[in-house]
Amino acid sequence: MMAIDKRENLKAKSFRELKLLFKEKKEPTYRAGQLFVWMWKKGVSDISSYTNFSKKLREYLNTHFYVGSLELCDYLVSRDGSVKYIFKRETGEKIESVFIPFEDRRTVCVSTQVGCSLKCSFCATGKMGFRGDLFGWEIVDQVLQIAKHQNVRVTNVVFMGMGEPFLNWENVKRAIFILNSNFGINIGSRRITISTAGIIPGIYSLADFPLQVRLAISLNSALQEKRERIMPVAKKYPLGELKKAIEFYYEKTHRLVTLEYVLIGGFNTGREDFLALKDFCKRLKVKLNLIPLNPTGNTSFSTPSEEEIYRFYNLCLSLPLTVTIRESRGKDVKGACGQLAGALL
Ligand code: SAH
Repeated sequence: MMAIDKRENLKAKSFRELKLLFKEKKEPTYRAGQLFVWMWKKGVSDISSYTNFSKKLREYLNTHFYVGSLELCDYLVSRDGSVKYIFKRETGEKIESVFIPFEDRRTVCVSTQVGCSLKCSFCATGKMGFRGDLFGWEIVDQVLQIAKHQNVRVTNVVFMGMGEPFLNWENVKRAIFILNSNFGINIGSRRITISTAGIIPGIYSLADFPLQVRLAISLNSALQEKRERIMPVAKKYPLGELKKAIEFYYEKTHRLVTLEYVLIGGFNTGREDFLALKDFCKRLKVKLNLIPLNPTGNTSFSTPSEEEIYRFYNLCLSLPLTVTIRESRGKDVKGACGQLAGALL
């Protein structure tokens, strides 16, 4: 009969939980830091090679625990230098992440869920439906594996891959602590960005979160009825409430929120769309990031022409805020915004 491995994954434990574990074993609590360094900084999974632990301690750990990892299944290198990664979980499901080098930044875009429950009609991940939440350690492991594979230090992390971070908030919080920890990946909190489709309780919760991570909100239309048509979640969290949440967030944190606005050809780029956006932004402390639609195979949405993009951009330049156009990377490997699921459907 096959023995069932009941060992626990040490990577699934927070720093505090590890300290408790060592305390119970009558070991000094600084061992938690040493263990974190092995697992998260050096990325070493073989407990037997943790040479600053006594042989006895290593044996104890090996008997009761293991150090898990996502399995790197495949990667696709884009012509623009970004790389889409496909990982397999212990449960067998696959997820995707993207490495995006740009000037002196090396950003990893992580997934937080397998698929997504929000069904935004212009996004490929929405088509997959929801298949499960990632654990905090699996979110961090995407960054660790990519840093090892690329042999670089990752400087920025964006929670803009598959899934809605605020619908897996407990695990996302655990991930942020490990990403930020000096003993972990050591990424400054201001270089970590959470992107939400507008889950309002999540925005209020982030306002109280101790680490100063950045927030981006996928607005995509400032007309309630139009927004509902492409983002069903807008019915539950309407624009008026969203605006209040953004105001509260700024009062509490004094950090600018980024509004992401996917430009859909002939759909949300007209004058009335701009006027609604202008009204929505009134009194808000925000930046605006315009994202020309990337193709997902859904033919009811088209990529806007250059002219359409710049017409809307020029209108936005009259607003008292910073406007940028996001040059989505990795389109040729289906690694751009809204395209994660290509290999998984
Ligand atoms: N659920 C979160 C995290 C995913 S982020 C959120 O909605 O913010 C994904 C970003 O890509 C969002 O800003 C989304 O609006 C954008 N996006 C989705 N589909 C896209 C597409 N086909 N082309 C360009 N951007 C897209």
